[in-house]
Amino acid sequence: MSKTLTLVLGTHNRKKRLELAQLLAPYPVELKTLEDFTDSIDVEETGDTFAENAILKASEQAIQLKRWVLGEDSGLSVAALDGAPGVYSARFSGANATDTSNNELLIEKLHGKPVVERNAWYTCNMALSDPNGSVAIQTEAYCHGRILSEPRGTAGFGYDPLFEIPEYHQTFAEMGNTVKSILSHRARAHRLFMRKLIHLLPNFIG
Ligand code: IMP
Repeated sequence: MSKTLTLVLGTHNRKKRLELAQLLAPYPVELKTLEDFTDSIDVEETGDTFAENAILKASEQAIQLKRWVLGEDSGLSVAALDGAPGVYSARFSGANATDTSNNELLIEKLHGKPVVERNAWYTCNMALSDPNGSVAIQTEAYCHGRILSEPRGTAGFGYDPLFEIPEYHQTFAEMGNTVKSILSHRARAHRLFMRKLIHLLPNFIG
């Protein structure tokens, strides 16, 4: 394989680029983010599922940029809340939501619930679109845990201080990024994605 596939990660987040770039390092794939393009668009996340949103972020951006684009959508689902906040994870507590206000609302909604009713899971869905908007690869992965009644730890972001992995007796925010980058829904989805990409790479770059 002498040619290189240029793949655009449909985010402005450099940390997300770095995580995936490490897995892609041995392969002839150049990874860019939306920061590298002045003509990228803001894709509205109007889907009802993580899969629909990942496809929207991949396909609409791919058509706009005329490039291969990898869209990603993730969030937290709580069993006792019928899967909420789900695709609304970022805006759980309203239009001006912050991580703190989202966490406060989650604590409030689960107030008084025993440990056995606090099961939750993160989901990460990834979709790779070709430059015409057709999905070539899609993967979804999960990370299971439970929601604490008060935050613990300072690392990570979003719901991490409330999300405990029972086997480790630690929240994602206590574990830190090194361990999280192995166990997380995003890391698992990246690994699944890589398996499929490696298999299909010769078709993409000829
Ligand atoms: P996005 O798909 O990266 O935009 O994430 C959507 C929302 O889901 C974030 O704003 C967080 O509230 C939540 N979320 C997704 N992944 C994580 C994670 O690894 N830790 C904490 N919160 C997360």
